[in-house]
Amino acid sequence: MIDELMQLAQLRARDGRHTAELVREPGRFGLGQVPTALAPDATTSVVCGFCSTGCSLDVHLKDGQAVNLSADADYPVNMGMACPKGWESLAPLSSTDRALKPMLRNDAGVMKEVEWEHAMTVFCRKIAEIQAELGPDSVAYLSTGQICTEEMAFLGALAKFGLGIIHGDGNTRQCMATAAVAYKQSFGFDAPPYAYADFEESDVIVLVGSNLCITHPIMWQRVLRNPHGPEIVVLDPRKTETAMCATQHYALAPRSDLIFLYGIAHVLVREGWLDRNFLDAHTNDFDAFAAHVRQFPPESITESCGIPVAEIEKLARTIHEGKRVSFWWTMGVNQGYEAVRTAQAIINLALMTGNIGRPGTGANSITGQCNAMGSRLFSNTTNLLGGHDFNNAGDREKIARVLGIDVGMIPERDSWAYDQIMDGIAEGKIKALWVIATNTSHSWIHQRHYIEMLSKLDFLVVQDMYATTETAQLAHLVLPAAGWGEKDGTFINSERRFGLVKKVSRAPGQALSDFNIFKLIAHYAGKAPMFSKWSSPEAVLGILGEISKGQPCDISGIRSYRMLDEEGGIQWPHPEGETLESRERRLFADGRFFHPDGRARFLFDMPARNPEPVDAVYPLLLLTGRGTSAQWHTQTRTSKSPVLRKLYPAEIYVELNPADALALDIEANEPIIIESRRGRIQARAVITPTVKAGQIFIPMHYKETNRLTHPSFDPHSRQPNYKACAVRLERVTSAP
Ligand code: SF4
Repeated sequence: MIDELMQLAQLRARDGRHTAELVREPGRFGLGQVPTALAPDATTSVVCGFCSTGCSLDVHLKDGQAVNLSADADYPVNMGMACPKGWESLAPLSSTDRALKPMLRNDAGVMKEVEWEHAMTVFCRKIAEIQAELGPDSVAYLSTGQICTEEMAFLGALAKFGLGIIHGDGNTRQCMATAAVAYKQSFGFDAPPYAYADFEESDVIVLVGSNLCITHPIMWQRVLRNPHGPEIVVLDPRKTETAMCATQHYALAPRSDLIFLYGIAHVLVREGWLDRNFLDAHTNDFDAFAAHVRQFPPESITESCGIPVAEIEKLARTIHEGKRVSFWWTMGVNQGYEAVRTAQAIINLALMTGNIGRPGTGANSITGQCNAMGSRLFSNTTNLLGGHDFNNAGDREKIARVLGIDVGMIPERDSWAYDQIMDGIAEGKIKALWVIATNTSHSWIHQRHYIEMLSKLDFLVVQDMYATTETAQLAHLVLPAAGWGEKDGTFINSERRFGLVKKVSRAPGQALSDFNIFKLIAHYAGKAPMFSKWSSPEAVLGILGEISKGQPCDISGIRSYRMLDEEGGIQWPHPEGETLESRERRLFADGRFFHPDGRARFLFDMPARNPEPVDAVYPLLLLTGRGTSAQWHTQTRTSKSPVLRKLYPAEIYVELNPADALALDIEANEPIIIESRRGRIQARAVITPTVKAGQIFIPMHYKETNRLTHPSFDPHSRQPNYKACAVRLERVTSAP
């Protein structure tokens, strides 16, 4: 407590205008307090801060500080279950490499601790100077799916309406942009239609590019609770943990999924296995799609997919005979060069067979990060707050009215996407970049190029829990942030459920919640009056409720955090006045979609060529993905847990087929070189038949992996194509 008071005193001493507010509102900057609402030895439920499943954890406090946790038995998502990451949620908070004070790089290039006041002054001055010299395109930000919805909204509003920054994107571009665009085009809004109950109610579950067992272990547990003995169908080039448990595994050739899905649609059309009533009443453009898929009879696609004709027909029949068929996809689809059309090929299968809007059905994208869904709707990056449109004057006026700001403060154009921001840096148009809660130097595709781009910046700011991430180490300014469990707010999970995050632990040093960092920036930038209503995360949830009115994601009926606590989270939509009749709800039960005519659309294209196919020099295809359920993305947090570290190999490894190992005389556990046109890395060989000959697999969690990946992008979603590029292997004769 003495430390906290000292920190407050420092802030007071440095900014007289803050003094009165700090005295009146001592928790305002979040220095060290736990919420007074919680008894010192309480147990309280908090939504997990890793993945999009959105499990609830019971956090046990002693003397006002979290000391342990267990899985929440009453929450409709996880019902008393948690995966290894969830159980270890508290470990990353006490890591010794937490960022404790702002750090600024001095003229000699050395990072030195500075006071918040100095950090804020430098931040605001540098941004203003660069904008004054080079215009509004010259500053950009890259955000995350890991901070709270209210923080994302604050960041988006502050950056775009307050600081005049046009370009901001999230790391959700790397995982979910495809699903967002696919839904928007097909359904008229970015609307995953399902509830997790659908895992338990299907009689056919089709998983496309999803290793659910380890990527979303609690969702997999929901599959195992299904009492109907479902067919579990997996489409994946690898024999993953999930494929091993499937009743049907289609090990299709990498990136042949679009052709394969068109082949399935062809059989359904050919056999008349369609729901004509649903098609006529609720969709547009089916006849054009039917004509399109006539070009893909099983006989013509069998070679490129590597799946026999009889197997293609078997899967079509399985879908036809299912009474409640659900289709699920994730990164295997989303991270491709024709990803949106592939996701829409899945949506088309659900539409043409009438498998949507009923229990156990749906075309269901599974999200990655804990608040990717918040980023998609409320971050003010690719769409205006609440799923509105920057290019629509009526939408801009509505947002300006709700926020009480001049409509002229709202940009009239969309942001550049992540890769376009990188291009902007390469071309010298962007000179300052603000990175929030993401480790871009590790996770972005074609890593060497990315890091070269960062070196061209005049000002790189990293706002993060740790000053040790690969990106923070390159920064000019590091702003120390509180993490999950050290702040209040909401996350939105994959099934559209708002869940509550609570402050159950003190942030160390002078680390502040992202919300309070944004508040400080608003103050030092002279924009505090614009955000006078943004007084707390809960107040912002109320603002978002107003903003969302009339939208498909209307949450005006969520009146308080207490309500979220009592209801076990609430899925959107929940408009004001609506009675919550069920804890698990799905969309489109009435067959009405969000396009103006209420109909879903069939969208399709001719398949494209892999931008980097194998050849004589680079004869193997590199696949990337999740390694284990104990690892999370760039391991910024999971590597801090001694327990989790024991559950996965510390050193990078590469999986290869025994035939390729034999051909290259590679032995198990031998260090080998993997080379693409962009880089060379070294990894231990794991020889396994789960990877087909001609393919290799490397988990994405290791910092070396993206030295190899190919910078190509889906043309609609601009999502990177992480999954299939050309590489070669060689035995180690010298270090790479
Ligand atoms: S499945 Fe996801 S949300 Fe659930 S405990 Fe694990 S990491 Fe947390």
